[in-house]
Parts: sequence; structure tokens; C-alpha cells
Amino acid sequence: MSTNDEMKARVCEAIDRRAEEIVGFATHILGNPEPGFREQKTSRFVREQFDAMGLPHKDGLALTGVKAWADGGTPGPSVAVIGELDSMIVAGHPHADPETGAAHACGHHCQIAMMLGVAMGLRDSGAMAELAGRVVLFAVPAEELIEVEYRKELRDQGQVEFIGGKSELVRLGEFDDIDMAMMTHTAVAENSSKIRLPGTSNGLVVKHIQYLGRGAHAGGAPHKGINALNAAMLGLQAVHALRETFRAEDTVRVHPIITHGGDAVSAVPADVRMETFVRGRTLEAVKQWDRKVDRALRAGAMAVGARVRITTIPGYLPLANNGDMATIFRHNAASVVGGRHVKPGEHLTGSTDMGDLSHLMPAIHPYAMGATGTGHAADYLIEDYTLAVLNPAKAMAMTVIDLLANGAAGAKEVKAKAKRSLTRNAYLKLMRGFAREEEWAEG
Ligand SMILES: [Zn+2]
Ligand SMILES: [Zn+2]
Repeated sequence: MSTNDEMKARVCEAIDRRAEEIVGFATHILGNPEPGFREQKTSRFVREQFDAMGLPHKDGLALTGVKAWADGGTPGPSVAVIGELDSMIVAGHPHADPETGAAHACGHHCQIAMMLGVAMGLRDSGAMAELAGRVVLFAVPAEELIEVEYRKELRDQGQVEFIGGKSELVRLGEFDDIDMAMMTHTAVAENSSKIRLPGTSNGLVVKHIQYLGRGAHAGGAPHKGINALNAAMLGLQAVHALRETFRAEDTVRVHPIITHGGDAVSAVPADVRMETFVRGRTLEAVKQWDRKVDRALRAGAMAVGARVRITTIPGYLPLANNGDMATIFRHNAASVVGGRHVKPGEHLTGSTDMGDLSHLMPAIHPYAMGATGTGHAADYLIEDYTLAVLNPAKAMAMTVIDLLANGAAGAKEVKAKAKRSLTRNAYLKLMRGFAREEEWAEG
């Protein structure tokens, strides 16, 4: 038997030997961006790589997810290494799909590459045979909560219940055989950081809002119409009027967009649609603002005599990383990039469905630098693939070794010490508690 350090050295060498190929996975996916639940090409590409490695896999999970597994020499716990398949939609991004506007403006292409890199490193080095348990390589769909109307349709058709990939996979039981999970997200460096440790992030609910007025000739008979766009704008103003009451510690974020503003410039808009998130640091904050935002949105309808239909869809839970896994990851990250380049975690006001997993099992969601620009914007680009792909692949593969070596003693200890806050059923009940569809009209 090798020591952990010997295995880690072999795994890192194996990743370095295939560095060009691993980075090539990322750049291939960068050139073929697809938004959530539509990741057909990306899903096929991942399956091809799993086949090339001889890893058994299941596909079509939550529409496009792919799950492969590599067994250790003896039975034991299973550790998932996750990569997200989906892109954002950012028209004008230099790597945007010209037809759909889809673009990897959140770096998820790097996650798939690092996940495949972990698999290659553990396999090529022969380390896998010396470990206990199983590594699950899980390419998951739809982390970005976008195209809400499209996903609402999938939901109405019964194709999904939850509109985020991991939540839906939990519902389907695809995480039932997994004991702990990790993934690394790309980020833009501050100071000299190369890896940032897991922190916390906001939870959220998603809203689809439809203002319904009455159409009329906008020039000839506007008095016969009810202007749904005016209702929507007043609803937005009412939401803005709430902002002064947000408490700083709740890190509330409400950021609506209008997705349909009218049909013809010569007609009074009768159907105006918006999407928004309501985010907060705690579930209590999310619940509180979820209701207050609805109240503000109703005010717009009330003012002009329109109706408003608000569909609230469960979003993501706040992220709560596992401290013991984070400690193991920190040591390994430090050995890859040097301790002074590893920065502590912080609270981020975005959201991730790793938050959901983190309430079901020990999980970590650290960050690897290498990006420049601004996340979700047209200038978000990966400048350094060693930082964005190879380093986190090594740090995660080494973390797998610490968890699953020596009869998986590390993983067993993490599991024993973890406070499991939610069972799957309790999670589903909590999530379903957010779902509602309400229509408001005066009188
Ligand atoms: Zn994102
Ligand atoms: Zn992301």
C-alpha cells in the first residue's frame, strides 16, 4: 500500500501528463455553450469521455445529467465530484452561441474539465484500486436559474418538478447513494489568491410574474385599455421602495427583469411578464421577503386595475459547507498552490444548488481563480486554465484520497461528525412549501 502522499504525487503527475487534453475538454465545452436542461451536446461529450475511460455511467438524469462511477478496491462510502453542464445566456460574450446567446460566462466548462481530470488522475495513477468506496463523477444540469418561463413549462408538463438541476436530481433519488459531495467553481482573483475556500451563499426563491390588463388601440382608444406595462413598472417601483428596509446582515437581493413588455407598439400592453429572484442569507430572510415582494407586486396591479399572477417556484437553499471536508481540502489546496495563495471563504450574495446538497450531506463548494472580468457578464473569460482547471482537479483528487484511503477512514470520520440537517423527505417538504401560484385582482 502507498501512503496518501505517494498516491497524491502520482495522481498529480497523472493530471499533469494529460494537462493538454484536460484543458481541451474545457475549451471544447466553451465553444459549445448550452443553457440548463438543454445541455444535449455537452452531455454527449461527457458520456464520450466516460466511455473513453471505461467508466460505467447513467444518463438522461434530470433530462441531461450524466453520472459515472469508479469503484475502489474495497467497499465503502461514495464521494461525488460534481461538474455543472450548463452555460449562462449573455449575448455579446465573445464565446456566445450566435443563435441562442448561450455563453460560458460562469466558468462551468472548467468544472466539467476538472471533474474529468479528477477521474483521469485517480484512474491513470492506479490510486483508485488502493482506495475504499466509490468516486461518483456527476455532470449535473441547470445550475443557473435562467429561462424561468421555459423551465416553468417543463414543470407544468411534469418533465421536472424543481427548476435547478441538483434539486431535481435529489428529488429523483440520484443522490441517495452518495455520502458526500464536492465541486470547485471558477472565480476572479483578488490579491494573490489562487484558491478560495468554501464560504456561504444566499438562498433564493424564483418568481414568474404576469401582469394582465386589457388590450386596446394605443392611439385611438387608450381609455378602453388597462396597461399591464404600467402595472409592471409600478410593481417594480414598489419593490424598489422596500429596499431601504432590507437589513444589511440579511444580504437580500431582488433583481427583476421584464421578459415580455407588450406585443405591438400600437396596442395597449395586455400581457407583461417578469422574472425575479428573492435572495437572502437565511431561509427566514428569504421567506420574509418572498411575501413582501408579492405585496409590492400586487400594488402595481391595484394602481391601474390590472390583474397579476405570481408563480413562486422553489429555488436554492443557503450554502453551508462541511468544516471537516473544507479543512482537508485546504491542506491539499495549499500543497498545490502554496498556503499563502489559499484565501478564506466568505459570504457570497449569489446562490447555488450546492446549497441544497449541503443540507443533505457533507459538501464543499470552494473556488479556483483563473477568470477575469465579471461573472455573468460579456467580459467573463478564463485567462489561466492551470489555475481554473488543473489546480482544482488536483486539490479535489487529493481530497478524495484523504477521504477514501485507509479503508475510507477520513470519509467515515467526516460522516460521523457531520450534523445532517435534512433528510431527503424533509428537504422535499421544505422546498414544496415555497411553491405557490397566486392571482390577484381588485374586488
Ligand atoms: Zn453563475
Ligand atoms: Zn456558476
